[in-house]
Formats: sequence, structure tokens, C-alpha cells
Amino acid sequence: MQCILFAAALITVRDFFVVFRQTEKHLLRGFNNKLLKRVQLLFLLYNKTVYDKIKKILKKLAEDFPNAKSELKYNNPFELIVAVILSAQCTDERVNKITPSLFKLADTPQKMAAIDIEQLEEVIFSCGFYHSKAKYIKLMSQELIDRFGGKVPDNLPDLMSLKGVGRKTANVVFAVAFGGQAIAVDTHVFRVSNRLGITHAKTVLETEKQLMAAVDQNLWSKSHHYLLLHGRYVCKSAKPKCSQCSVKSFCEYYANRN
Ligand code: SF4
Repeated sequence: MQCILFAAALITVRDFFVVFRQTEKHLLRGFNNKLLKRVQLLFLLYNKTVYDKIKKILKKLAEDFPNAKSELKYNNPFELIVAVILSAQCTDERVNKITPSLFKLADTPQKMAAIDIEQLEEVIFSCGFYHSKAKYIKLMSQELIDRFGGKVPDNLPDLMSLKGVGRKTANVVFAVAFGGQAIAVDTHVFRVSNRLGITHAKTVLETEKQLMAAVDQNLWSKSHHYLLLHGRYVCKSAKPKCSQCSVKSFCEYYANRN
């Protein structure tokens, strides 16, 4: 019994320090020493609560979505990066209808850079914003050839340096194609995180930073998929299915409305 209590105490202390280490340097700059200690303690207590809450939510969502992964269809990192660019403001379902014919025409950076832009626009027309998506897919393909020998880079800074590749796209490709740990925040992840109250953020970047601070790093990519799928199928934008939601007991949005 004593051993169990001792182990439980160790785990609790470890959790405190994990949360503390992940948040203090971002949040506590600029405080004087005395105030700093009090604020540190408050953050510690607050974040321990958030940390525990997120752990429980992720456990539930892992049960709801045991095979959570990207629903985009692709055969290699290049096809994935193209599919993710196409998925901006468009459903994965729609993108998956377009990409088979697109990749028949061009499944490498070389072929994509050489394709006629009007032809590309015609193929991707139905996913919206086709002018700018076609332009950036071609520019990105050319950059892959010029700067990376035709290969999609496997790290975030290089991915983010590509034209047309924003932070979300880079995070998805890094995590899905290369097995890296990243939390891509799209409209679903943003909405679900803030409704649940595991983040309190006004922008996707703030949401990403708060999630990274509160979730164990080895769960970042999985967390992205869980929150995204929960948003896509349960916590929908206009009509969230709260009565069917497995995590409603943790949800601030739900609590405020009931
Ligand atoms: S309770 Fe409703 S608002 Fe909250 S996460 Fe579930 S579906 Fe979304």
C-alpha cells in the first residue's frame, strides 16, 4: 500500500513538473521575483487541472476514434502536400474525388511543374480557390525541384519555407508523411479545443501553442487527429451533437448552455 501511495505521489509530482516546464518560459516573462512565485504557483495549479482534463478527453476520444488518421488519400509525401494544399476551405471527401485524376496527370514535382496551369485549374476547379491553389501547387513543385532535389523535406522549417505551404500544411505533412510530432490546427481543432475549454485562444497559432504546452509531446499528432475527427463528426460547427458527445462532461460550451 505504501509503495502504491509513493508511486502515485511521484506520478503527481512528475505531472506538475511536466506542465510547469512546458508553460513557464512562455507565460511568465517580465514578472518580478515575488510576484513571479505567486503567479507560478497559480499557473501550476491551473495548468495541472487543464493537463488532467486534456488527458481524460484524449483518452475518451481515442476510444471513439481508435483508427484516427488522415482521411486524405495519397501515395507519397508529394501527393500528400498537394492534397493538403487542396483541402484548404474544402472537405477531404471532395479532395479525394479530385486527386486520382490529378495524380494520373502529375504525381511528381517535375510533372506538376510542367503541367499547363489552365489544365491544372480545370482538374481542381471543384475544390474552390482553384486559381491560387493551382498557382501555389506549381510554385511549390518548382521549389521542390530547385531547392530540395525534387523531394519533400522532412522537417518543419524547410516545409514552411515552401511557397503556398503554411504552418498547418507543414504540420500535417510533417506528422502524417514523416511521423513527426506536431499539432496542426485547422478549423475543427480550433473550434473543438476552444469549445471544450482546453484552450482559450483567439487564433489558430495561439491554440496550437496552448495545446503544445498542455499535451504530452508524444501525443501531439494523435491529438490533432482526435480533435479534428471529433469536430468533423460530432462537434460540428453549426449544430454540435452534444447529446451524443462522449466528452460533454468536460465541455465548457456545453456547461454554459445547460
Ligand atoms: S459537448 Fe457539444 S460543444 Fe462540447 S465538445 Fe461535445 S459536441 Fe462539442
